[in-house]
Amino acid sequence: MRIRNSVKVNWLSIAASFTLVAVVGFVVVLFEIYTNDIYFKTKDFNYFVIFTLLLVFIINYFVLEFLFSFYSKNQIRRITNILPEDIIHDFDSDIGFKELEEKVHEMNQRNAEIDMMKEMENYRKEYIGNVSHELKTPLFSIQGYIETLRDGGVEDLNIRDKYLQRIDSSVERLLNIVKDLDMINRFESGQIALKYSTFDINLLIQEVFDLLEMEADKQSMTMLLQTTQSQLFVYADKQRISQVLINLISNAVKYANREEAQIIVSTREGIRNIHISVEDNGMGIKPENLPRIFERFYRVESSRNRKDGGSGLGLAIVKHILEAHKQGIIVESVYLSGTKFKFKLEKSPLERLRKMKQISNE
Ligand code: ADP
Repeated sequence: MRIRNSVKVNWLSIAASFTLVAVVGFVVVLFEIYTNDIYFKTKDFNYFVIFTLLLVFIINYFVLEFLFSFYSKNQIRRITNILPEDIIHDFDSDIGFKELEEKVHEMNQRNAEIDMMKEMENYRKEYIGNVSHELKTPLFSIQGYIETLRDGGVEDLNIRDKYLQRIDSSVERLLNIVKDLDMINRFESGQIALKYSTFDINLLIQEVFDLLEMEADKQSMTMLLQTTQSQLFVYADKQRISQVLINLISNAVKYANREEAQIIVSTREGIRNIHISVEDNGMGIKPENLPRIFERFYRVESSRNRKDGGSGLGLAIVKHILEAHKQGIIVESVYLSGTKFKFKLEKSPLERLRKMKQISNE
């Protein structure tokens, strides 16, 4: 076993030596055929030729082996000289191209790992920076209100009630951020299992309209459902989809920024899916900001300073929920004209059955 491992046959050298011997042998045979000298046709001469060719074969093999190894070692030395020392510590004369390839592969893998670690480190830093920034604002306001109350504000009933109300809102804001972050983390670590059921998406949209009615009324906004059928059944996680609709529709309310704003939610039936869109005629988003709006904590600069601007987690949650449903979301927006979000949900088997019956009746 050992011997077999240590003896390496170089098939290239064998092939080259064999070709040389074959050519010489062929020339000798031709010479034997055409010569009239009887000596060159004797058995002794043939034995001599065979022996010589064998010798040429062996010598040639070793010469070629020497040249190949000399050349390849030179090349390997040149390559190893440019590799970092932690990959090749000392020049090892026995290292071959195969080992060299493995070492380069190992180096590439290590570099990729380092790059990924750097990226994760940056991501972690940015994440922690964002979280602390988001938490700082409500925490500082709570601190400010408490200080004012302690410094005598508590004696004045008006100030006391107003500040307690503000503390309550800030605490609620803090809780919302923590809840949103927790949801995103659970989505990212795959801890959320969807609870699929069949439900009427039009009814759910109506329920979300009712929920946000007060907010919309305050800004004299109208919310409209446009649909192809009164009932459209989808197969999805109802609670999560309700969260998607709340986030999209409340954004449309938040970023309307105009009088007589209108929000239109449309539903229509496709072959396998139900298509849903949420469209507003609000302030719109500039094209350069569009690709980033689904990133967590990302807010378009103008909405950062708005008192009703959120934490920048709403659309990240929407994207996660739809991805968990194996669906994507598309956004189209014209700055100062309006925004439209489009997504699909799987049609419920019931809905497909109804469609098939309808087709067969026609
Ligand atoms: P936020 O909590 O700030 O609303 P989102 O993740 O929901 O965060 O949205 C990210 C940003 O995208 C918002 O800050 C806002 O600038 C922009 N945006 C989202 N929806 C709309 C919309 N319907 N119209 C205009 N801008 C929007």
